[in-house]
Amino acid sequence: MDKLLLRGGTLLDEEARLTRDTDLLVEGGVIAALGQNLDPAGARVADCAGMVVSPGLPVLHAHSPMHILRGLAEDVDADDWFNKEIWPYESKITPEDIYWGTRLCCAEMADCGVTVFADHYFEAESVARAVRDSGLRADIASTAFAMDGDAAGDIAETRRLLGLFAGDDRVRIRYGPHSTYLCTPQALGDLVAAAKADGVGIHIHMSESQEEERASLRLYGKSHCQVLDAAGGFGLPCIMAHGLWMTEEDLALLGPDTFVAACPKTYLKLGMGRGTLWDHWQRLNLCIGTDGAASSNTVSALEQARLFALVGKLEGRAAEFRLEDIWRMLMRGHRAMDFGTGVLGVGAPADLVVWDLNDPGTAPLYNPLAAILYSADRTNVRHTLVAGRFLKRDGKPVQDPAELLAQADRCARGISARGKGVSRLFF
Ligand SMILES: [Zn+2]
Repeated sequence: MDKLLLRGGTLLDEEARLTRDTDLLVEGGVIAALGQNLDPAGARVADCAGMVVSPGLPVLHAHSPMHILRGLAEDVDADDWFNKEIWPYESKITPEDIYWGTRLCCAEMADCGVTVFADHYFEAESVARAVRDSGLRADIASTAFAMDGDAAGDIAETRRLLGLFAGDDRVRIRYGPHSTYLCTPQALGDLVAAAKADGVGIHIHMSESQEEERASLRLYGKSHCQVLDAAGGFGLPCIMAHGLWMTEEDLALLGPDTFVAACPKTYLKLGMGRGTLWDHWQRLNLCIGTDGAASSNTVSALEQARLFALVGKLEGRAAEFRLEDIWRMLMRGHRAMDFGTGVLGVGAPADLVVWDLNDPGTAPLYNPLAAILYSADRTNVRHTLVAGRFLKRDGKPVQDPAELLAQADRCARGISARGKGVSRLFF
């Protein structure tokens, strides 16, 4: 395996600590050494003087195939977005649309410094194959809709995928009950029990809108968190998408392995409100998600983190949502996925971003963290590496996007031509 020396950069670690003028040696896909004046013998050298080297960015909630639907459902509220637009289109989506949608998503992620993501979609095998072909890492949940109370088919499918991708160092599989409103309590309990038996976690939408929470109270006399708790869902690793409207009682139910993925751009675009999330954000294992591009339009973790801070500061809280806290929140997503990424330490996977901030959009560099969180965009991502392999190099994608764009265009024409079908989903 090639040796690569990232020479003379400023390291920005997961705790927002900066170490200037440091070399980072990559060998065998991991960080082999850190220090000053490391021996470059046998290594390719990338000069990082004046640049910042950080762990790659994690996204803890995505629907990567939805890139193929980007721009189809605009200027609608959450109810119409689901019921009148997205679910009717999704009822006619094909595995090929899902594969190329995911490839498009992965290409955008690599371009903006995202190296790992937690995905939630049906036809998850197509998602996993696209991830494998893209070079990124992903923790993939196979979405289970079990409104009829029978999760046996979903459990069998997830077990098939667990077998298929066992030992893959860039793909992890977990259970993906869609939500407490699209799975019955019985089905939810069965999915949680299967996840426990298989030694993996779950990824689920929770407490996303006030109306859903009210409906849950009407139907079960319980909040989403109380329903999941009764099913045992907080006793295993849990990625909770949104958690926007949780109450004090809900917070007390969360487990040590419950990680919450906030996707503020979706809440802003679909007019969903701030819920209670910004009140108790520091009491949660809070991380950043992007949701799907059909609602968020991009998969920039940086944009979502920035929006989270700005929404928090909006009404008289300018001294809160501090740079270091926002960076730690962003980096925390690594811990919710089982790849050992997100650490600048010897032996850790070399999943890295090199930021070029010597640019009219970000200079001068009094505060690199401010430059990244409030000024930078994907044009400042000089290199993106996963397992020591370049996915973006010298500002350009390593994989030529021409075929990908042609395939995505072909799929989009097919989706437009087929139009909307009848969805079996509702809320
Ligand atoms: Zn979602």
